Amino acid sequence: MSRAAEVAAGLAATRDRVAAACAAAGRDPGDVAIIAVTKTSPVSDVRLLAALGVRDIGESRDQEASTKAAETADLGLRWHIVGQVQTNKAGSVARYAHAVHSVDRARLVHALSRGAVAAERPVEVFVQVLLGDATGALGRRGGVAPAAAPALAELVSGAEGLRLAGVMAVAPLGTDPGRAFAELARTAERIRADHPEATAVSAGMSGDLEAAVAAGATHLRIGTAILGTRPSPG
Ligand SMILES: *Cc1c(COP(=O)(O)O)cnc(C)c1O
Repeated sequence: MSRAAEVAAGLAATRDRVAAACAAAGRDPGDVAIIAVTKTSPVSDVRLLAALGVRDIGESRDQEASTKAAETADLGLRWHIVGQVQTNKAGSVARYAHAVHSVDRARLVHALSRGAVAAERPVEVFVQVLLGDATGALGRRGGVAPAAAPALAELVSGAEGLRLAGVMAVAPLGTDPGRAFAELARTAERIRADHPEATAVSAGMSGDLEAAVAAGATHLRIGTAILGTRPSPG
């Protein structure tokens, strides 16, 4: 099979899964965006995805994302940063990212705000929430405790150049993703009480997208189900 056929098949299968999950949850598939996570994949895969109608591309690292964004500037893609952002990379990220899903500390909010103002373009921000056991594997992947998320959301909503989109989480390994995503949904609801515009819930990866859709996710971050197994953990 050609690479183009492989990517097309992965995307079609993923769209089918999302449609089935939406049907099971009584939701409109139009309310659930698929972000294709292309970390470690070549920029040629990004072009294949764009040709298949994908507009939202996710990446973990600034260096890889900024290079791919520059190489595909003709395609009008929206770039989503889903991995941890070092504060000193915020200025770079603000120059090309449509959204940052992994905002989990005040210093990063301030740095992204400065970057967005300097770049003269708005950046959407998702507050990353740490679900489950903070000392487990997830602890290394960032996130703010659910109880602290509303205060960080407040900071984002008042920051120049930033727009509070909503919340994001990665389900902790080895536990029921449905329970974790329900906790995320409660956190999102708490934030919406003060910020009704913060309607986005970024949850769900290749292994748990059905549970995320059932719990109300509006943005799915899908890598391996579309592009195949990555060479190394990213
Ligand atoms: C890599 C990554 C994804 C995509 O994961 P898959 O299991 O390949 O779908 C989603 N979210 C984050 C934060 C990631 O780092």
